[in-house]
This record gives sequence, structure tokens and C-alpha cells, in this order.
Amino acid sequence: MFDAIVIDKDDDGQRVTVKPVAFPELTDGDVAVDVAWTTLNYKDALAITGSSPVVRSFPMVPGIDFAGVVAESRHPDYVPGDRVVLNGWGVGEKHWGGLARRAQVKGDWLVALPAGISLRQAMAIGTAGYTAMLCLMALEAQGLPPEAGEVVVTGASGGVGSVATALLAARGYRVAAVTGRREEADYLGRLGAATIVDRAELSDKARPLNKERWAGAVDVVGGTVLSNVLSMMKYRGVVAACGLAGGMDLPTSVAPFILRGVTLRGVDSVMCPKPERSVAWQRLAEELDMRLLESMVTEVPFERVPETAPLFLEGKVRGRMIVPLS
Ligand code: NDP
Repeated sequence: MFDAIVIDKDDDGQRVTVKPVAFPELTDGDVAVDVAWTTLNYKDALAITGSSPVVRSFPMVPGIDFAGVVAESRHPDYVPGDRVVLNGWGVGEKHWGGLARRAQVKGDWLVALPAGISLRQAMAIGTAGYTAMLCLMALEAQGLPPEAGEVVVTGASGGVGSVATALLAARGYRVAAVTGRREEADYLGRLGAATIVDRAELSDKARPLNKERWAGAVDVVGGTVLSNVLSMMKYRGVVAACGLAGGMDLPTSVAPFILRGVTLRGVDSVMCPKPERSVAWQRLAEELDMRLLESMVTEVPFERVPETAPLFLEGKVRGRMIVPLS
């Protein structure tokens, strides 16, 4: 039996408790991992609060990512003692997730942790940081060099936004950080943001086209903010869109695409193919300044996860929230 956060649902609604759970025998291809660190991501907050139908079956152990040490393996690539990280694949949604002292998953879903990165650092990065790297890789794949001009990051004080800001700045891009929290301006400057943009500037209904402002964008917000970003892209600008913190809709027009040749590139971390994941994790180990990463981190005790999750939906989380388990 292993302690876990468990979401149950019945006719009376959803309940979240901390209690021991048992796992079935490993089948071929499975790996059991002693979870050392996990995290709270925006999607975990949606699952734990029940404010969006993230969880597909009950009872569910939430937690879309974890880092730990292999305890048992029936997969040819892993042996006990290996250090591994997991992001996505429906874990914490359809399969029991990382908010537990033990996780049991398909070995094909795991990535071997690159040398030089600790289990704690892996989760300080977490799915948010790994997604930020996927966004950077998407901008690069579309041929956006640092000389093209400023890159805007929305939701910059949050998890994806903080890591994206640090990664882009380290790569030589000039970063404009959009935030609704002016009090985080110094924090964002330390991460490498050259310009701070008040979210209010991007909150009104967007015109089809606006003054050209940015060569690239990493958007975690969606909705009106993304439609304003699109309207302000320079000729042949590239936008990597990964989030919906401000809404699922996208009230835009074709104008940025057909008149300025703007590219809107979607980024998904959940089903991202394994080779790309491995590249992303290797690059995170090499390119992310681990002292800056530490400045993004807040530790949350395991037992306090249920009461902490709503902070994400209130837009009050700065950087990354990590949860120790060992
Ligand atoms: P966080 O809560 O840490 O960050 C989101 C940030 O967005 C907030 O800190 C805030 O930044 C801003 N924000 C919050 N609410 C609003 C609002 N109503 N309007 C405008 N801005 C708002 O979340 P994460 O960084 O972990 O995740 C960000 C988004 O990316 C989420 O929607 C998440 O689901 C998505 N995501 C998608 C992935 C994928 O695979 N596609 C993977 C990981 C995350 P500030 O106060 O600075 O403005």
C-alpha cells in the first residue's frame, strides 16, 4: 500500500482525500517507480478542483508528471535504480498519476533522466518546463532566429511562462513578458525579460490587425490575449500556442495569416513522440540555468496539495510548485 491523493466521485460530487492505495501485479512492459518528486500543474488543479473534466475514470490518483527511481521493471529498457521522468500520456487523467509515493506506468512512457539533473530539478522543470522547451523548439523549427525581433511570452509569471522566459533569454532572444501581476516585474526581469507588458494591453477585443510588435510568441493563455498577440505579430511571425489559462476560445480573423504570413503552431506535451521528449529533456539539462530554476520553485507538502490546487485557477501561482514524496 502506498500513500496517494485520490479523487473519488459519486452522486454527491467529487471528494479528494489522502489515503493508501494498492497496485496490481506488473504486466509485460510495465514499470513501477518510487516517486521522489511530483508537481502541481494547471491541469492537476483542474483535476483536483473538478472544475474541468480532466479526470476520465474514478477513483483517480492525479498528477500528470513525476520523477523517481525504478523499483521494479518488466520493460527491457529499465532496471531497478534507473532515474526516470514522466510527463503526460494521460497519466493523472486516465491512468493513476504522480501524486503518490508509487507510480506504475508503461515503460514506453518514461524518459531516462539526463545526467547532471537531479530528481528535484526534474520536477522543478516538470511538465510546464518541458512544454516551455517544446515551445522554443517549435519556434526554432519554424525558422525563427533571435535576430528576427522580440518574442512575447504570455502568462509569464506562471510555470510555462517562467521557464519559457528563462530559456528564450538564455538562447539570445529578446523577451517581452506579459503579466497581469505588475508586482512580478522584478522576478521576470531576473529570469531574463527585457520588456514587461501589462496584460490589460491585450485584454480588449482584438482588431484583425494591429501595429506590428513581435517576431515570435509563446502563448499559454489563449482567448482574447492570443487573438491580440496574433494581431500584433510582425510579418512572418511565429506563435507557439500551448495553453488556455485565459480561455478555450480564439476570437480572431484570418488577417494575420493571409496578410502577414503569421504561423500559429500548436504545442502538445501529452502525446508528443518520445524522440522529441528526449531531445527536450536533454536540452533542458544543458540550457536551463539551474539557479534561475531554483528561484521559480515553491515546495508544497504532500498533505497540502488539495488546498493549494485552487491557487492556479485564481492566477496566483508564481513559477513552479513541487511536491516532495520521499
Ligand atoms: P500557471 O497557472 O502556472 O500559469 C498561467 C499564467 O497565466 C498565470 O500565472 C497568469 O500569469 C496567466 N493567467 C492566469 N489566468 C489568466 C487569465 N484569466 N487571463 C490571462 N492570463 C491569465 O499554469 P501553467 O504555466 O502550468 O500552464 C499554463 C497553461 O498551459 C495552462 O492552460 C495549461 O493547461 C497549459 N499547458 C499546456 C500543455 C500542453 O501540452 N499543451 C502543457 C502544460 C501546460 P500572469 O499573472 O503573469 O499574467
